[in-house]
Amino acid sequence: MDVFKSFIRSNVCLANCTRLGVGGTVEYFAVPESESQLLALLESCRRKNVSARVIGSGANVLVSDKGVAGVVISLSQPAFCRIELNKSGEPLITAGAGVKLVQLITDAVAAGFGGIEGLIGIPGTIGGVLCDNAGTSNDNIGQWVESVRVANFDGTISNLSKNEITFGYRSSSLDTGVILSATFRLEFDDIKELSKRMQKFWIVRKSQQPFSQIPAVMAFNSTKTGTSASDLIEQVSLKGTQIGKAIISEHNPSFIVVEQNDNKNDNNDTRGVVDDVKRLIQLVQERILEKTDIELEPSLRIW
Ligand SMILES: Cc1cc2nc3c(=O)[nH]c(=O)nc-3n(C[C@H](O)[C@H](O)[C@H](O)COP(=O)(O)OP(=O)(O)OC[C@H]3O[C@@H](n4cnc5c(N)ncnc54)[C@H](O)[C@@H]3O)c2cc1C
Repeated sequence: MDVFKSFIRSNVCLANCTRLGVGGTVEYFAVPESESQLLALLESCRRKNVSARVIGSGANVLVSDKGVAGVVISLSQPAFCRIELNKSGEPLITAGAGVKLVQLITDAVAAGFGGIEGLIGIPGTIGGVLCDNAGTSNDNIGQWVESVRVANFDGTISNLSKNEITFGYRSSSLDTGVILSATFRLEFDDIKELSKRMQKFWIVRKSQQPFSQIPAVMAFNSTKTGTSASDLIEQVSLKGTQIGKAIISEHNPSFIVVEQNDNKNDNNDTRGVVDDVKRLIQLVQERILEKTDIELEPSLRIW
């Protein structure tokens, strides 16, 4: 990996790259500055049989305390964080994989392009939200996709049209490569109306998910048949359950929050928190299976 030393560091702790702020180190952490650097890296990983994965804003990833082998790539440099409105006069907008979803939505609204404003407040980058097909009970990001550019692990690039991509419930076929950018086909709408709608959605989300100031992750998806994870967790009386520092949120039980210590002299020791979260997820799954015969899937990706 020496030839890549301008944008690769070794043994980097990933805690600061994740929403929970916990987890171990990765062998190599790469922050490429251009597509050509990224493609050369992917090609080299393939030749040397080194595993490569991407981290977005880390809102849906839990990194094991034991750490991760191979390379973790962050597309946070400007080359991957551009937004462009289509000049043809159609309601098309293209965003790099490193763009935050909130930025895409606010730019679309400012241009009078509607459709995705209901997703406001979902944390993540375009790469992450497409990979997870993030959304609400009514809407998901995948339904607005026109095309996606993907770097394959052999160092080539594919331009996939929407018909070549499968979007499932909180999943997509895009998790086999590195998403570079995506174009969304939205709908013309009145800017003032869109802004009002976006603000309303924002207020509702903040009341349902008041987690901007604390480390929290959405640990569980609803079931494929639409039963809410929160309802199931309440039903089996696990709301508020705590293992170590990990707690099932009282406010919205599909979330796990990490207990914060108010004592300023204690620098919030996070050792063991990853295992606490894993054990809590397992407890919820076992209890729900035992009491309701339903297999609840975790939404969190555990590395
Ligand atoms: C407070 C809170 C509220 C949430 N609310 C919702 C909600 O309402 N609805 C919902 O659906 N989700 C929700 N989530 C989950 C989270 O927002 C989504 O899963 C989001 O997609 C994560 O995006 P990210 O950029 O953080 O991805 P990460 O967590 O960094 O990564 C997620 C996956 O995407 C992959 N990935 C990231 N970038 C790329 C790329 N460029 N190419 C290929 N793969 C890539 C990663 O390898 C990983 O497998 C919530 C999470 C939190 C913490």
